[in-house]
Amino acid sequence: MRCYQLTGFGQGLAESEQLRPEPTGTEVLVKVRGAGVCHSDVHLWEGHYDLGGERRLSFADRLKLPLTLGHESAGEVVALGPQAQGVAMGANCLVCSWIGCLECVACSAGDEHLCTAPRFMGVNRDGGYAEYILVPHPRYLVEIGNLDPVAAAPLVCSGLTTYSALKKFGPLLERQPLAVIGAGGLGLIAIGLLKHLGGKGAVVVELDPRKREAAMAAGALATIDPRVPDATAQLRAALGGSVLGVLDLVGSGETATLAVETLDKGGRLVIVGLFGGAMNLAVPLVPMKALTIQGSYIGSPDELRELVALVRERGLPSTPVERRPLAEAAAALDDLRLGKVVGRVVLTP
Ligand SMILES: [Zn+2]
Ligand SMILES: [Zn+2]
Repeated sequence: MRCYQLTGFGQGLAESEQLRPEPTGTEVLVKVRGAGVCHSDVHLWEGHYDLGGERRLSFADRLKLPLTLGHESAGEVVALGPQAQGVAMGANCLVCSWIGCLECVACSAGDEHLCTAPRFMGVNRDGGYAEYILVPHPRYLVEIGNLDPVAAAPLVCSGLTTYSALKKFGPLLERQPLAVIGAGGLGLIAIGLLKHLGGKGAVVVELDPRKREAAMAAGALATIDPRVPDATAQLRAALGGSVLGVLDLVGSGETATLAVETLDKGGRLVIVGLFGGAMNLAVPLVPMKALTIQGSYIGSPDELRELVALVRERGLPSTPVERRPLAEAAAALDDLRLGKVVGRVVLTP
């Protein structure tokens, strides 16, 4: 089978020809129909996160290369190991990439996405930029019925990440519009999921005019260009006078600082984006405004099941999905890195 692998940090993806894996034990072989290209693949390619002030969090000592990227995979079950039970041949599934050790405290609580020794597909083990993907156990498959696997693949990471982050705002979603910073793949899905969750809607802050346009098309209440001098006043007005919830899907020093300074008393900032940098935090503002600053990282396997149930009932969020052949994996990753992608690219092996 063909797959696309990271062979060195900062280097392009290399095509590799490998034997089609044979499932043993509880393993399941899935023929990949859709493999989403996610911004964290760009970080993996770069080999580090920027922690601000010259500090970097490197992947070099934590990841083994070569690695087949791809953690947003969907496809069809085509072979079962002898002990793989609970899933049928031909099932149309998402592959939950968030596999933990099953032994640490986080895993024991069902939070495999927060595992201290993760075995994530497309990160710590081979992922879905391939014709087939070997899944260790049927528990990591979520059936999606007759949903299009190409359009549904991004639910595994961008959908789940946004869903879990939105849930952290609780009842506020139904009381007040949310400020959403960034209208990349996550931002557009957030707008759709917010509707599914009965939310009041999103006011989107985004630099790129094309992405602002896409946000309006996805159903944003308004969009704000953060470079205009009265951006914060515009944001406050569009939210109805007070800023109580900010979802930061960019996660740069500038966006997080802006959020803290703009939030009103009792406000909540949920940071999801991993753009990088350091935050200039005026510490007294945190107690004085009784702020909550919370990080959100992916979501749990149970939340993915909840999300799939929600989407099967209410439909996929209307995020633009660009389908590209698997052979364009490297080019797709480059385009995402250079900010050329509106919505989501999904590779179709
Ligand atoms: Zn991702
Ligand atoms: Zn664990």
